[in-house]
Amino acid sequence: MTDYDYLVVGGGIVGLSTAMHLERARPGCSVLVLEKENALAQHQTGHNSGVIHAGLYYTPGSLKARLCRAGERATKEFCDSHGVPYRTIGKLVVATSAPEVRRLRDLALRADRNGIEVEAVDRARLRELEPHVAGLEALLVPATGIVDYRRVSEAIAEEVRAAGGQILTGARVTAIAEDADGVTVRSTRGTFRGRRFVACAGLQADRVARLGGLDPDFRIVPFRGEYHELPDHRAGIVDHLVYPVPDPALPFLGVHLTPTVDGRITVGPNAVLGGAREGYRRRVVSARDVADYLRFPGMWKVARSHARTGAREVLGSVFRRGYLAQVRKYCPELRLDDLRPHAAGIRAQAVMRDGTLVHDFLLRGTPRQLHVANAPSPAATSALPIGEMIADRLVGSGPGSRRG
Ligand SMILES: Cc1cc2nc3c(=O)[nH]c(=O)nc-3n(C[C@H](O)[C@H](O)[C@H](O)COP(=O)(O)OP(=O)(O)OC[C@H]3O[C@@H](n4cnc5c(N)ncnc54)[C@H](O)[C@@H]3O)c2cc1C
Repeated sequence: MTDYDYLVVGGGIVGLSTAMHLERARPGCSVLVLEKENALAQHQTGHNSGVIHAGLYYTPGSLKARLCRAGERATKEFCDSHGVPYRTIGKLVVATSAPEVRRLRDLALRADRNGIEVEAVDRARLRELEPHVAGLEALLVPATGIVDYRRVSEAIAEEVRAAGGQILTGARVTAIAEDADGVTVRSTRGTFRGRRFVACAGLQADRVARLGGLDPDFRIVPFRGEYHELPDHRAGIVDHLVYPVPDPALPFLGVHLTPTVDGRITVGPNAVLGGAREGYRRRVVSARDVADYLRFPGMWKVARSHARTGAREVLGSVFRRGYLAQVRKYCPELRLDDLRPHAAGIRAQAVMRDGTLVHDFLLRGTPRQLHVANAPSPAATSALPIGEMIADRLVGSGPGSRRG
């Protein structure tokens, strides 16, 4: 059995960033990342919209707001220094009705409190900026960018290895035992021991927490985010990212038009309750995954309080016309045959027993384990400061620290 200072579970962007920052915070320490898939970034990190968020939406002062702002800058700096392509194309949040205009103005105030530069855009200027987009008013967020988070993750992984860290893929963690001096982890590629242990397991966060002996007060519920892709002749339809005004009760941003770094435009994602945590095709259902959330009282409360939105999303998923209607509100010329198939993503959404959909980052721990219980969007944008925060916490205090 090999001994390490730190064991990190999860080769998504949060686990990799944590490993990199552990090495930066404590040069020469030994770090091992265990990833169950045969390649890195195969789940949320590799199936998302690729947006570098500016941090517009989040409650001022929340961890999410602070980390997103820091993450937007850190991601661009990291990309600059590691040769990862990204583009700062800006985003427009478009209001198409009077209630949305009111919410848009609230959003502008929130942006101000979050220190995010925004520009109020009237109807005429919106036409100038995006001739194919219709709305009453909009908010321009110039700092928003686009990137491929798989490529960011690969660059982080290279840095982890260059600093002496090890990354083992195909290594599913199956058992975790903690004692006074450290944590022993059994995996499909061997047994390892670490003085401290961090889990960044995304869609499996609650299960890995349970393996570690915790009794998690949350459950991960999979929300599919289904995308479409526009055909080549629609490639120039927008230059900015174009978003609707989000529903403040939901942690999702609404179906948006997203130019990608490789020159395509995606439409999406919606948010439909998933039949499997890691089943990317629509009809894949895992009895274990479904039973897990159906047995959880918090999920029934979510279903009751969001029944109407849930039904609309399911209809939009089954009938593309419903989906199209959401986009045509702000981009009326799109037609049904413009919606071409594109891979879906699945969000790991933590739900508490009382039915709260957790909007912010959530950490749970024991003396020697730290579990990232919820790392929702914009955690790809914020992954660098999140990793730094976790590393500081592990290196700076408690057992297994510089002193412990
Ligand atoms: C549809 C969608 C759109 C999004 N859009 C954006 C966006 O535009 N911008 C943004 O900032 N954020 C976005 N996000 C959010 C962002 O993608 C996630 O917050 C982020 O990728 C979370 O990273 P992670 O490392 O925590 O999780 P993941 O990338 O899911 O990684 C977790 C890893 O843990 C591994 N693992 C799990 N269990 C085990 C085990 N037992 N043993 C070993 N390994 C294990 C998994 O295989 C996986 O690789 C989006 C998410 C989705 C789903």
